Amino acid sequence: MRAREQLRNAPVPLEIDEIVLNRALTRPGDCARCKTIAKRTKKAQQFLHREFQEIPLRVAEDPGEPILGPSALLAFGRHVFDGEALKSKLQKVSKLKEVELEAIDWPSLEVPLTLTLGKGGVGKTTISAGLAFHSRRPHPKESVTICSIDPAPSLDDVFRSEIGAQPRSVLNDPKLKAAEIDAVAEYEYWAAEMQQKVESATSTEVRGVHLDLSFERDLFLAVLDVVPPGVDEIFAAFRILDLVDAGGRVQIDMAPTGHALEVLRTPARLLGWARVLLKTLAHHRTLPLARDAAVEIATVSQRVRELAATLSDPKRSCLWVVMLAEPLPDRETRRLLDALREMNAPVPGVFVNRVLMVTGNCTRCNRASSWQKQTLAKIREWNVPVYVVPEFSEEIAGKNGLQRLTKKLWRLR
Ligand SMILES: [Zn+2]
Repeated sequence: MRAREQLRNAPVPLEIDEIVLNRALTRPGDCARCKTIAKRTKKAQQFLHREFQEIPLRVAEDPGEPILGPSALLAFGRHVFDGEALKSKLQKVSKLKEVELEAIDWPSLEVPLTLTLGKGGVGKTTISAGLAFHSRRPHPKESVTICSIDPAPSLDDVFRSEIGAQPRSVLNDPKLKAAEIDAVAEYEYWAAEMQQKVESATSTEVRGVHLDLSFERDLFLAVLDVVPPGVDEIFAAFRILDLVDAGGRVQIDMAPTGHALEVLRTPARLLGWARVLLKTLAHHRTLPLARDAAVEIATVSQRVRELAATLSDPKRSCLWVVMLAEPLPDRETRRLLDALREMNAPVPGVFVNRVLMVTGNCTRCNRASSWQKQTLAKIREWNVPVYVVPEFSEEIAGKNGLQRLTKKLWRLR
């Protein structure tokens, strides 16, 4: 529903033509886990029929194994779009590697600023909420603020209350606060202010002489318009720095991977952009308002430097990566970790979310579990601490949910 809203409000409004319900399970057999997934599928189908009556719905069965290679992809495409039954190829999982796990305590936020990164749909928000929630016990006197800059935030669902731009306390804990920052709105607000400043500065009369500075003004506004990617998030990050400066611990639920990486790479780009903005104003330093704008931009540059310094200082910040034990995200996460290493970002570990712990004798679940174990064995070779979060049959929400979540954690040996 959020997607429909966003598409309708896009610069070129769009409508949803079709919906694909992915990873559906319609014939669960008598496995308890599969039955739960089937129940969820049914609920989702009912919801979609109710809310999107007029839009065709396609159902994509979960084959219980990753779709790898062109022939599997073709079969899957025929299943989803031509309605053919999905025959599982029962791909042979290459020789099963056993993974050894040791039970450990959930980590807590040890530095002022903690960020969580990961692809969409891996449970990044849940893990972020778990970290924030769990940090209240070892540091009862310190406040913890969890803040989402994901364009599709879901803190509302985890905390079961409406979360807005201003931090507000959740779960009846005055020291646990949550906020969702709309990055684009933060930037637009700043840009509008700047625009106003410059417009009045460049159409001013100085000692009775009207100065026509329209060229510089247009140039400045044009530069203000060509925002480098990630700049809006940086403005959200300034809000976050304010929170860090205010004390306590801050946990940021970042935007999905690719976008988040852009954000982390932005400081350098943003400094260049600010320099160009300053240059367009350079000839008019004598005009007080142009000077104001210049000071403002210089302040932004200074804050960007502060942000970059915080993000590369292991005493002040750290960055957790969240992923699923699936072969494809596994490659993507690998690239992410390499990129983070290149940036010298302090990474204390990787959370592998929704790992099946007990599988019984269901073929589908056992196959899924084998794939997960195979992926975990690969991740172990990455030279980074790996934390395994078990799969829960129900959505993690509210105090009870977060308590259950943060009770169990394993570390890959
Ligand atoms: Zn099953």
